[in-house]
Amino acid sequence: MAKITKYKKVCIIGAGFVGSSVAYALMLRELADEIFLIDINEKAMSAEVDDIQHGLPFISKTKVIKGSYADISESDLIIMTAGRNRRPNESRLDLIKDNIQIAQSVSEEINKYYTKGIVLVVSNPVDVITYKMNKWLNLPKGKVFGTGCVLDSSRFSCVLADYFDVPTDRVSCFVIGEHGASMVLVWDRVQINQLPLMEYCEKEGITFTDADKENIEKAVRNMGTEIIAGKGKTHYGVATCTCYLADAILGNRPIVASVSDILYDEYGVSDVALSLPCVVNQNGLERIIKESLNEEELKQLHASAEIIKGFLV
Ligand code: NAD
Repeated sequence: MAKITKYKKVCIIGAGFVGSSVAYALMLRELADEIFLIDINEKAMSAEVDDIQHGLPFISKTKVIKGSYADISESDLIIMTAGRNRRPNESRLDLIKDNIQIAQSVSEEINKYYTKGIVLVVSNPVDVITYKMNKWLNLPKGKVFGTGCVLDSSRFSCVLADYFDVPTDRVSCFVIGEHGASMVLVWDRVQINQLPLMEYCEKEGITFTDADKENIEKAVRNMGTEIIAGKGKTHYGVATCTCYLADAILGNRPIVASVSDILYDEYGVSDVALSLPCVVNQNGLERIIKESLNEEELKQLHASAEIIKGFLV
C-alpha cells in the first residue's frame, strides 16, 4: 500500500457491520489521519468508535472519531454504508425500498456540507444507489461511484486460486455488470500465472471443462448468499475491498478495479450504473477501460442492465 504523506480525512456514513469494519481496516492500514464515523444511532456509533480506538495506541496513528454530518466538510473520501443488510432469502434488489429512502436523506446531508472529495457507495443495491446518489449529489463525473463488482471479482479470484491451487495474487480476473445475481464473469480475461486460463491449463496438463466453469460460476454467484445464511451479514470482504479502493483514492496509487458508474453508451448501454473495469485514483473514477467482450458476455451485460433499469423508475 502507498505511504500517505498529506493530511487525509475520511467520513464513513453508517457505523453498522460494514461501516465499522471499513473504519477498522482503514485504521489498521493507516490510510487516513482522521476517520469520522456518522450514524443516526449515535449510541451504537459511539460504542463502535470506542471499541476501535481501544486497540489503536499499539498499532496505528490514525484517529477514529465520533462524527456528525458537519464533518463531511473537507473530507477527501466519504464512504456511504448506511442502510440495512439483506436477510436470508432476500436478494440485494429487495433492499431498494428501505435503502433508497436512507440514501436520499444521506444525500441531502452530504449536499449541505460537501466541499471536496470522492463519494464511494457501498450500500446495497449498490448499482441503484450509485445511480440515484449521482443524480442527487450532482458532482462532476467520476466523483461518485460504487464498490460494485470489486467484491465479486475478489471472490472470483479466491475460487479460481483454490481450484488451481495457486496464491490469489497469481490470479487476474474481473466480474462486471450488476453486483447481484446477474453479474457477468469475464472468462476470456482470466489469467493464472500471467497466462490466459486455457493456455495455463494446457501448459500444466489440467483438464478444464464447461462443467468446471459452471461450478465455479455458481460458487461465485452464491457466495454472499451463503455467508448471509451462515452469519446473517457480510462485512469483512467488502471492508477490505473498500480499503483497497480507498488506498487508490487517498494514496494516489492508481488501480484498475471493476467499480460501478453510470454508463453512457459503453457497449451500447446507457443511463444505468453497472460495473466495468475502471482506472481509480485520487480523482476518483478516472476512466472506464474498454475491454473486448465476447458475444455471450455482451448479452449477459445487456441483460444485467435491463434488470437494474427496471428498478430505477
Ligand atoms: P447494519 O444494519 O449493520 O448497519 C447499517 C447502519 O446504517 C446502522 O448502524 C444504521 O443505524 C445506519 N443508518 C441507517 N439510516 C441512516 C442514516 N440516515 N444516516 C446514517 N446512518 C444510518 O448493516 P451493514 O451490515 O453495515 O450493511 C450496510 C449496507 O452495506 C447494506 O445495505 C448492505 O447490504 C451493504 N453491503 C454492501 C456490500 C457490497 O459489496 N456493496 C457488501 C456487504 C454489505
